[in-house]
Amino acid sequence: MNRTAAVSIRLDGVRKQYDDGTVAVRELSLELPAGELTVLVGPSGCGKSTILRMVNRLIEPTGGRMWLGDQEITAVDPIALRRRIGYVIQNVGLFPHQTVRDNVGTVPKLLGWPRAQVADRTAELLDLVGLDPARYADRYPNELSGGQRQRVGVARALAADPVVLLMDEPFSAVDPIVRGRLQDEFLRLQQTVRKTIVFVTHDVDEAVRLGDRIAVLSEGGKLEQFAPPAELLAKPANTFVAEFVGADRGIKLLAVTPIPREGLRPMPDGKHEAPSVPADGSLRDALAALLEGDTGWVVVRDGDDVLGILTPADVYAVLRR
Ligand code: ADP
Repeated sequence: MNRTAAVSIRLDGVRKQYDDGTVAVRELSLELPAGELTVLVGPSGCGKSTILRMVNRLIEPTGGRMWLGDQEITAVDPIALRRRIGYVIQNVGLFPHQTVRDNVGTVPKLLGWPRAQVADRTAELLDLVGLDPARYADRYPNELSGGQRQRVGVARALAADPVVLLMDEPFSAVDPIVRGRLQDEFLRLQQTVRKTIVFVTHDVDEAVRLGDRIAVLSEGGKLEQFAPPAELLAKPANTFVAEFVGADRGIKLLAVTPIPREGLRPMPDGKHEAPSVPADGSLRDALAALLEGDTGWVVVRDGDDVLGILTPADVYAVLRR
């Protein structure tokens, strides 16, 4: 599935001033690690799409330098570059008069892959995004739901095994329930493909749910903070970030903080009926279980094994760390 090694993306003093004088990105330096999902988040108009579109050279920067691994982005042919970069946008942009199969196979065909290989790859990708090829490959985009179209868009972007995946608000046009499901599926997919992904959203919850790292931007593409979700929520760098992540950042933090495996208290003696949580859950799961029971503690389990117990004071101690 993954033949191409992931590469990092580096921006050094990148600037974009549009022809009408608008400075969308003043001067941005940022290194996005290989194989990680970095979210660019910030209010509308802060320059997120501009940044993304400079990386695949749909628009040209007016200053600074950018690299894909050790290759300078502005030094390569833009068309060849775009074939190595998957791009997913809101409303997908599928070709309406082509079947799902042809949509997904677009770039491999352009690259001259043999037909049989294109067919195999298409089926493999539809499977990967949770669409049964036998059922969906011959449909046209208007015979799919919004969520299904979005999955085809992701499959198409992955088709030629790109080194990088750029996603611009890909899930914004679908309803919140489908969006949640697409996000979960997408996280599972990333576990498999481990691409370097740049994901643009204006939605903090989506950023926290998906990102290995989050870049919070303000107007002019100004980088306010670049950190993993838990760090962003626990230690916002300034008032802009604190306000942007919202007053409920404590609750968001609980959801992204894993239950500790080390230093759990032992089970008290005697038989107690207490709620339990799986060891791979979050502190929010632990708190929910605490509220469910009246024991004042929850049992942390790894399958049938009991790892120990957690009290509200322990939860608090983890958050204070
Ligand atoms: P975001 O994706 O964060 O909403 P954009 O990158 O789309 O922001 O836009 C950043 C700024 O650049 C905005 O002020 C927007 O109006 C401006 N802008 C975007 N595209 C153009 C363009 N083609 N010409 C002039 N200004 C533009």
